Order: sequence, then structure tokens, then C-alpha cells
Amino acid sequence: MVQGTEGYRFRNWANTYSCQPELYFEPVSVEELQQILDLAKQRSKRVKIVGCGHSPSDIVCTDDYLIRLNHLNKLIKVDKEKQQVTVEAGMVLSDLNEELASLGLALSNIGAVSNVSVAGVIGTGTHNTGIKHGILATQVVSLTLMTAAGEVLECSDSVNHEIFQAARLHLGALGVILTVTIQCMPAFHIQLQQFPKTLTEVLNELDIHLKQTEYFRFIWFPHTDKTTVFYGDHTDKPIKTTSNWLWDYAIGYYLLELLLWISTFLPCLLPWVTRFFYWLVYSAKVTQVKRSDKAFNFECLFKQHVSDWAVPIEKTGVVLGQLSEWLDRNPDVRVHFPVEVRFVRADEILLSPCYKQDSCFINIIMYRPYGKEVPREKYWAMYEEIMRRNGGRPHWAKANSCVRKDFENMYPAFKNFCSIREKLDPSGMFLNNFLEKAFF
Ligand SMILES: Cc1cc2nc3c(=O)[nH]c(=O)nc-3n(C[C@H](O)[C@H](O)[C@H](O)COP(=O)(O)OP(=O)(O)OC[C@H]3O[C@@H](n4cnc5c(N)ncnc54)[C@H](O)[C@@H]3O)c2cc1C
Repeated sequence: MVQGTEGYRFRNWANTYSCQPELYFEPVSVEELQQILDLAKQRSKRVKIVGCGHSPSDIVCTDDYLIRLNHLNKLIKVDKEKQQVTVEAGMVLSDLNEELASLGLALSNIGAVSNVSVAGVIGTGTHNTGIKHGILATQVVSLTLMTAAGEVLECSDSVNHEIFQAARLHLGALGVILTVTIQCMPAFHIQLQQFPKTLTEVLNELDIHLKQTEYFRFIWFPHTDKTTVFYGDHTDKPIKTTSNWLWDYAIGYYLLELLLWISTFLPCLLPWVTRFFYWLVYSAKVTQVKRSDKAFNFECLFKQHVSDWAVPIEKTGVVLGQLSEWLDRNPDVRVHFPVEVRFVRADEILLSPCYKQDSCFINIIMYRPYGKEVPREKYWAMYEEIMRRNGGRPHWAKANSCVRKDFENMYPAFKNFCSIREKLDPSGMFLNNFLEKAFF
């Protein structure tokens, strides 16, 4: 009989949320997983699955049973002709990237980090950028799901279609994802070009940028009119990276963390810190060629609070304009750089922030220098207010103030997801506080 561990404390990556489940499990097989679910049922316990714990919210927190699928992490099937792979749900993207590279394959898009699990990234609607590319879950062609009743459902466009459209962004609410089949493509390199622009310029030329390059994003430096634009395009060129002594020797991190910490006593310094780092690191023109997964991943520096909402793409300029004006009018609020702006294609996934609309994600950040909390309430409240006013939908991994009524208004298919969840998990075995806030 599988044994759980008592006294385990879970902490998410940013160390902003934690919980102490009654029992913690790391099953080595689907049979063991099944036994844990049976035990939970007998003892009326709730169950949460944790991937790599990167979500900046309490989405995986539970007082009952927490299960990590780190042993269910293998590549189990390769269909070379279709360029599809089937993996166990606990596989970490960094391992998958290497497996794919050895097969001459790659994922068409991944997020900023690869030390996240396959089921975890699809479960919260993880995205990166490129208006021809959907959220990562759009690369999923089928999956298997173990429900609260212990049944294993195959789901794809042709089998259990409705459940498939829910389970591709599942929030951990529908059962345990066991395997995922992903559409890949031939391995490729990306040429990355980085160059400076003003915010006004980049917004005026938005359509041009979106057409000109496959993976377009930019970062805005709040309290200034400065941005750095990033283009990313498939290329046959060989890998060519430029070294940057500031990051290579971690001097940049130490300096930034120190300056942000000093700014907690003197917030009026923040615009100067922002300008200094822009000048030092982000104002240069840089061209590099990287293996695709290395090009998608970027440095997330140190522990942080983030919020990330999607708005309809045509609202990009309006939202950034309102945010910038509000910061100008409120000199008592000083915020950290960058504000990251990314673009994602519309899809049909029930809980996707891009459900039926091409979207722009605008990610704000407040670091915690040396673990110190920096006041962010006013910034967060105004950001959310602006996003709501402009038809925004929050990223599911990231904490926000929304409740069921808000989600019903924001997500046209929210009620469909709720009824699928109620059918698959009538006793609420996979619920926790995070999900109760969303569903009740
Ligand atoms: C440094 C950093 C950078 C990031 N960059 C991006 C980015 O570029 N774009 C973006 O959109 N997001 C980004 N995120 C958010 C991140 O992609 C998501 O939080 C993602 O869900 C993390 O994956 P994980 O494996 O850690 O999942 P977890 O946080 O562990 O879990 C996420 C959800 O999946 C569920 N789950 C996990 N495995 C299973 C399973 N087998 N069955 C059922 N449910 C399961 C959990 O219960 C939970 O509901 C970033 C986060 C960090 C910390």
C-alpha cells in the first residue's frame, strides 16, 4: 500500500504561498495513484496535484492530500510521421525539450521557463508570444484524464470533444491528467533581435511589428516612455549568442536586487533605477541565434509578485496609455520594471483568456528584494480596474481578486466548464480554496 508523508510543507516557486497537507505522495505508477484516490475517497479527503509549483497563487494549496507526479515523467510514444509525442503528465519541459531535440523535433512555442510540468503549464493556460501562436495548450492533440470515479477518459477533438476543450485548461479541477499528446514540429533555430523604441512608436507601429515577425513582444519601462522590442524568427543560421558580463557573472542581479532593496526606503529612486538599467542593459541593439526552446525561455531574475491579464488585442494601446497616465498622476506609487507585453492567437478552449479573441497579455511585476515585501496594493488594484474596464481576463496561474460572478462575465464558456466539472467531480474531490472562490 502506498505511503504518504506527514509534515511536508509545500511552497510555490516565488515563496509567496505555502500549505502543509495532511499527507504528501509521490506515486511511481498509475496504480499507486489510483490507490491514493481510493484512500482519499474512503476518508473523505480532498486531493491536489502539484506540477513544479511555479504558479504565483494558492492554486495547488490544500490541507488534505497533495500528490506530485515527478515519477510519472517519461516520454512514452513518438509518432514521427505526425510529429507528435505522448508524454506522462509529470514530465518537465526542460526534459521534454532535450528528448525532442534528440528526435529532431521541437515545440512551436513555450513560456519563459522550462522547469515546469506538462500538465501544469496546460492547466493554467501558460502562454508566450506570437500572434500566430495560441496558448501552449493549443499544441495538445489529446490527453488522458483519471476522474474522481477512477475512470480513465481519452479526450481529443474526436473523442469526448467537450471534455477535451475543458481539460486542455483544466485548473486541476477535473481529475488527474495522466498523459498528454503534443503536436511538435521539426527542430529549429530562432533569430532574436532586440532594439529600443519609445512606447509611442511601438504602439503606433503595432500592426507592422505583429506582421513583421513571428514571435513579437516588448517590455515597457514604467515611469518612462522607453521600451525594448524583441523580434523572434525561424532561421537556418547557426547558433550565435552574445555574452553579457552583467548577467553572465550575475553582477546585474546583485546590483538590481541591491538597488531595489534601497528603493524600498526611498521609492522616489525607482524611476532612476529603471532608467539606469534601461541604459545599462536594454537600450542596446542585440542579435542572437538560439535553439528554439532557449530562445523562448528568458531570465526571470529573482522572486516576485506578478499579475498578468489578457485584453482584446485592439485594446493594447488604450490599456498601456491608461496605465502610464495613472502612474504619472500618482507619484506616490513607484513600480518595478518591466511591464511585459505579449500577443496570443484566439482559440476555442473553454477557460482560455484567448477564447475566441486574439489577445494581448500585459504582465506587471513587483520584486521582493532579499525576500522583502514591497507595497503593491494600489498598483495592483488600479491595474485590475483598468484591465476589467477594457474587457480583460486574468491568467489562471496568477492571483487576482475575481470571484465566480466576474469569471462568468469575462469568460463566455465559464458555465460550460462548471457543468463539466460538476459531472466529472460531483463530490468536489479536486477542489481547494482557490477553486471554491472561482466556482461558488
Ligand atoms: C519564473 C516564472 C516564469 C513564468 N513564465 C510564464 C510565462 O512566460 N507565461 C505564462 O503564461 N506563465 C508563466 N508562468 C506561470 C507558469 O507557467 C504556470 O504557473 C504553470 O502552471 C506552472 O507549471 P507547474 O508545473 O509549476 O504547475 P503548478 O503550479 O504546480 O500547477 C498548476 C496547476 O496544474 C495542476 N496540475 C499539475 N499537474 C496536474 C496533473 N497531472 N493533473 C491535474 N492537475 C495538475 C495543479 O493542481 C494546478 O492547478 C511563470 C511562472 C514563473 C514562476
